[in-house]
Amino acid sequence: TSLLNIKDLTVKVEEKSILKGLNLEIKEGETHLIMGPNGAGKSTLGNVLMGHPQYVIDEGNIFFQGESINDMKTDERAKKGIFLSFQYPEEIPGVTVENFLRTAKMAVTGKSIFVSEFQKELKEKMDLLKMPYEYKDRYLNLGFSGGEKKKNEVLQMAVLEPKLAILDETDSGLDVDAIKIIYEGIKNIADDKKSFLVITHYNKILDYLKPDYVHILIDGKIAVTGDIDLAYEVEKVGYDNFKKIAGTRS
Ligand code: ADP
Ligand code: MG
Ligand code: MG
Repeated sequence: TSLLNIKDLTVKVEEKSILKGLNLEIKEGETHLIMGPNGAGKSTLGNVLMGHPQYVIDEGNIFFQGESINDMKTDERAKKGIFLSFQYPEEIPGVTVENFLRTAKMAVTGKSIFVSEFQKELKEKMDLLKMPYEYKDRYLNLGFSGGEKKKNEVLQMAVLEPKLAILDETDSGLDVDAIKIIYEGIKNIADDKKSFLVITHYNKILDYLKPDYVHILIDGKIAVTGDIDLAYEVEKVGYDNFKKIAGTRS
């Protein structure tokens, strides 16, 4: 069944069109990879899906489980099961990882969760990501390395259990060991029901997650859609070749 269906989406940021008639359908359990040159609109797509107020839908529709979410606020979308990874660049003194995550989980589910019950779940998820359990007592992002912050994002996703997880360059700036742990963690979290929209520049992901579809986003539109081979092709030939043939293949 269709989870996300984006129809002819045009998005403006500060009066400038960034997405220009984008179509994309993601079904339950599918993993889609989005690649594309810098400035193509990849992060804009993630932000508009999450309802970031700066990104204004000009035309088109975003359907989630058959319902238009164009006018939904970010927190409502999160409750529906949409998750966008992003770093909390700020350190939040006085808020521990555990408290932050438990509060987020209660906000999304609308249920209270006992500390002991939450800790059991947290321990399991941290094990999957090879994070020492003591990290739960650290203040959010205070003194965390780049890799630890990224793992924290993936831990947040694991705890919130979204239906659709959008990962925007979760692998950037990481060494190969950290990438391995993150993608193996994501793979462990993935199941037949969960869907992923992964934005990345690195083919390293293909060693761990097998996308059902690979899309090349160029100038605000999906120029080409293919399978895993497309990701390898891009690595060889670069994006310029796809700019030329954009629209002639699909
Ligand atoms: P990508 O993630 O593919 O590199 P982005 O979606 O971040 O691309 O950006 C696409 C275009 O939109 C760029 O020209 C960028 O400058 C512009 N843009 C994105 N977000 C904003 C914003 N908040 N304010 C102004 N311009 C933006
Ligand atoms: Mg799958
Ligand atoms: Mg980006």
